[in-house]
Amino acid sequence: MSDYKLLINGALVDGDDSFDVINPATEQTVAVSPRASIAQADAAIAAAKAAFPGWSQTPFAERSALLNQLADTMMANAEELARVLTQEQGKPLAEAMQEIGFTEAFIRHLASIELQPEVLFDTDDRWVEKRHSPLGVVVAIAPWNFPLLIFTFKLAAALITGNTVVGKPSPTTPLTALKMAEFCKAIFPAGVVNVVTDLNDLGPHLTSHPDVAKVSFTGSTATGKKVMASAADSLKRITLELGGNDAAIVLDDADIDALIEPLFNYAFMNCGQVCLAIKRIYVPERLYEKLVAGLSALAAAVKVGNGLEEGVQIGPLQNAMQYQKVREYLADARQHGEVVAGGEVPEGPGFFITPAIVSGLADGHRLVDEEQFGPLLPVVRYSDLDQVIEAINAGPNGLAGSIWSADLERAKALAYRIHTGTLWINHHLDFGPHIPFAGAKQSGIGVEFSEEGLKEFTQLQVVNLAR
Ligand code: NAD
Repeated sequence: MSDYKLLINGALVDGDDSFDVINPATEQTVAVSPRASIAQADAAIAAAKAAFPGWSQTPFAERSALLNQLADTMMANAEELARVLTQEQGKPLAEAMQEIGFTEAFIRHLASIELQPEVLFDTDDRWVEKRHSPLGVVVAIAPWNFPLLIFTFKLAAALITGNTVVGKPSPTTPLTALKMAEFCKAIFPAGVVNVVTDLNDLGPHLTSHPDVAKVSFTGSTATGKKVMASAADSLKRITLELGGNDAAIVLDDADIDALIEPLFNYAFMNCGQVCLAIKRIYVPERLYEKLVAGLSALAAAVKVGNGLEEGVQIGPLQNAMQYQKVREYLADARQHGEVVAGGEVPEGPGFFITPAIVSGLADGHRLVDEEQFGPLLPVVRYSDLDQVIEAINAGPNGLAGSIWSADLERAKALAYRIHTGTLWINHHLDFGPHIPFAGAKQSGIGVEFSEEGLKEFTQLQVVNLAR
């Protein structure tokens, strides 16, 4: 029997099967998770479908109040939740608390946005109104890097717009989502929120189910493509937030001493496992050695370890597969470039790799061209800025990026030339529920957050009346 329960039709139930959740810092079992069968996934979808008419008619103010109640309950349990998050995901406790704080901000802000109808014409002969109605059952699929935040903001966006939900966390980090399921049971009417877990096998069933109206998916680009194909048959609405290979471009006028610390932090937060993390830095020849030396000094000083221990700044890779993948990137980087600092792989247990600063690589090398999603940072020298922009735009990803310069107008003009959904100037990773977030090219389809993101959970309807 598992320590956690699924939420199906207002009841907390055991899965038809179960599996161990592994703490990546110790490789020990943290807890036993339920595993839902296809029949349980079907029951969750049926419950969400049955709850939809009532929930979609529930006044906005009531939906908003219940979401705020969820935020209250989560915050009342924040310390326990943070420990669970650190143990299942690996991130240091302080980062786990930060994720909980973000989650609260997302719930409360999204719960404050009411999509208002708009009258487009009101004349003698006609009246035309534009309005947004909910879609029905939303399937929300989350990855393992921010298992609480991503799972919950999808839930909040779907619910505030009047949809019902079947949520599915990642198999390696299901526990915080199952905790939220427990909180939701006491707050929402039966069937409005359902949470199922799997071993990477329920996705195709959920995303192709005829009773599901929309899929909100965050994960890898490869899986995103499968979701899109699987949703095609019934033309489901989809939002895909996928992988990225964010570049930070340092311009020749930048104050390099002031940049070293922020660049390091934006690259290595959550052990580099952030879709929006800096994944490569381009720097002019003249500033190259100084930047590499500065980043290397920080890498050498950072404390890596079990996120539950005091003072630890960087935890392990989240799971064995990712650990293996990042080790392959590391081996490739050693072969073609130089690991100037870090890149140590301590003897087990735990999926640890110390943050590595890699020099001597260029476009065309794997670590520069691909999403490493781990604590390896290539620093690439350049002499021609146009070539850098060309190389970035030629890649398949387009999530975000940043430009670092003392000349804001110059930086802005460059920003407009880069094909990404977000481009920061003199910072990175600044996002929130009030700022729309979208991936360009193979980094995604659609928008999340803000009013624009919420609209994706609705059907635009025009009511056009002749007088
Ligand atoms: P993943 O694609 O392996 O898994 C994501 C989720 O999809 C999991 O819940 C998984 O069980 C589920 N899944 C697996 N196969 C499926 C299928 N065929 N159909 C439907 N669902 C399926 O991704 P991951 O390894 O958990 O996460 C890391 C990736 O996520 C990275 O590429 C990262 O850049 C990306 N990511 C993107 C964002 C963003 O907002 N753009 C945010 C976080 C992570």
